[in-house]
Amino acid sequence: MKSLSLFNLFFLLLYLSGTAIGLDVEFYREKIFSGKTLVVLIKDKDEKIGNVRGNFLGSEFDFYRAGDGKYFCARGVNIYMKSGKYPFSLDVRCRNGEEEKSEYKIIIEGGKIEKKDKIKIAEENIKDVTKENSDNENIYISLIVRQVTTNRLWRGNFMMPVKGVITSPFYGFRSINNGAKFFHQGLDLACPEGTEVKASNDGEVVLTEKLISRGNTVIINHGQGIFSVYYHLSRIEVKEKDILKKGDLLGLSGMTGISTGPHLHWSIFANGVAVDPADWIDGSIEKFIFED
Ligand SMILES: [Zn+2]
Repeated sequence: MKSLSLFNLFFLLLYLSGTAIGLDVEFYREKIFSGKTLVVLIKDKDEKIGNVRGNFLGSEFDFYRAGDGKYFCARGVNIYMKSGKYPFSLDVRCRNGEEEKSEYKIIIEGGKIEKKDKIKIAEENIKDVTKENSDNENIYISLIVRQVTTNRLWRGNFMMPVKGVITSPFYGFRSINNGAKFFHQGLDLACPEGTEVKASNDGEVVLTEKLISRGNTVIINHGQGIFSVYYHLSRIEVKEKDILKKGDLLGLSGMTGISTGPHLHWSIFANGVAVDPADWIDGSIEKFIFED
């Protein structure tokens, strides 16, 4: 039998923790890898909470109601975060005027690299890409996926948007033509040009545009800070403000923008941070929040 080390004991204590006014605070995952989603659930069985705010990694945010007496937040942990213990604080205001602040330590294990991935792209294909327009494009995207709308449109688990083969994992460390080195923050799903690309969950289309690096791009807002992005499409079949259901066609796969071959680049963002879609696809985040 495995012995319970002090280290493990710490995680058990962290995982489920009560507060003085009788709230249960639960953390999805005992320890979190950078690039994953931290989910925190507050159980308020006596319905005392009037308002609850969290503070983590330098930003302050609201919790969302997840049914009777439950509140949650889903926060992306940037893949570039270094290992360490980081404070997570809660500021609860009760209906009766009582206030409570509490602080927890989140253990982040940083920079897990599963696979190194060197890609070569014909210089011809990147002739239009400059440091300036690529930086601008990154800022443009990050401003879109950082928006917060309070309505939750996503329901249930997220689905893979194409039936494809994963060629590059979320955690791949990539260099292009031995130059720029970065974490590849998404899944590359290899599929023949023209493969139908489906919305991975319910949401509103907030961007349909041809970009220099990402090619034809669709971004869906699923609400409460969760977005999914679809790059390199050959065709876009939706327009901005369209409301999509999970599985609705949004475009056809291709290789527009910087791409070594036909594939779909797909990512999920939580509060503006690209996160590993695995926990959203298998439904484990959703179960943690909504099932008892
Ligand atoms: Zn990609």
